[in-house]
Amino acid sequence: MKSSFLSVFVFLFSFYASAQPFTLPSLRFEYSAYEPHIDAQTMEIHLTKHHQGYVNNLNKAINGTKLETYSMNQLLLNASMRSDMVRNNAGGHYNHSLFWQILAPEAKQGNMTDELKNAIDKEFKLMDSLKSKLGTAAAKHFGSGWAWLIVTPDKKLKVTSTSNQDNPIMDVVKDRGIPILGVDVWEHAYYLKYQNKRADYLNNIWNLIDWQIVSANYIAALNDPLLKEIEDDSWPEIKDFHKVMAQTFHPAEKDDFIPLQARSGEMRAKSLLLYESVIPSRYQKPEVKANLLKLVKECEELDKLVKKNAKKIVLKAKIIQAHDTFHVIQGLCKD
Ligand code: MN
Repeated sequence: MKSSFLSVFVFLFSFYASAQPFTLPSLRFEYSAYEPHIDAQTMEIHLTKHHQGYVNNLNKAINGTKLETYSMNQLLLNASMRSDMVRNNAGGHYNHSLFWQILAPEAKQGNMTDELKNAIDKEFKLMDSLKSKLGTAAAKHFGSGWAWLIVTPDKKLKVTSTSNQDNPIMDVVKDRGIPILGVDVWEHAYYLKYQNKRADYLNNIWNLIDWQIVSANYIAALNDPLLKEIEDDSWPEIKDFHKVMAQTFHPAEKDDFIPLQARSGEMRAKSLLLYESVIPSRYQKPEVKANLLKLVKECEELDKLVKKNAKKIVLKAKIIQAHDTFHVIQGLCKD
């Protein structure tokens, strides 16, 4: 009974946050159920005005564009490539959908699982120190934003905060991972009842956290392929190199060597940056490092051949070799 109840919520959350056109989720309880910690009027305005606004603006911003076919995760992951309109409203919809899901009146809350309890003990020693860390992250955050408990790509718990409607899935954020608990620290989340007393709101919000749902989010995050996507995405040097390789190799395949001749120096420099970059921990194996070094040497040779005006057939053979090496690296970085 308990587990089917949980899976309904996990399903609803992923459904509302990912299906297009995006729609406003329902609260799990009536507006007044969150009192006295959050008043009914705040809940109603927050959901039906603020959150609805993010949903409407998001649908409007992507309507008729290629983003219409993107999942919520795809919209968030590459936030740096999105307009402010899409970034703010996709974040707003995702963040609030998570927030509503983890809130419940005390009598309706479930228990934390042992898995999450052990992870919290390991990372923060005590529940109290997690609460104070999150409280501090939220309280010291200047202006509007969110405080988060996330699962990082190396599967650890971490407390972070972000500005505006950004969240830790986005590539514009330093500390990345999948959020399992989020606290809204915009004034609209508490102002009617608490006015300027943000600290009181932050103390009282703990009374509304449904740890059973956060526990389910924890397990879901550990098993979510998105975690690997975030990690891959956190290696910008490989993305940079891939771009210049693709833009020189594909024309060369069709005997157009102009891009390669123009950019062989850049490719050589980027292969070196890639070799010297911080490799995500899961890819730190000797074969990866060895092939990165091989790639640097091949890009150096390629650049020298270009500068010597080598024959096209020679250039082609060398860029195919470097391209193959890059594919070996990519292959080693897959599970
Ligand atoms: Mn809000």
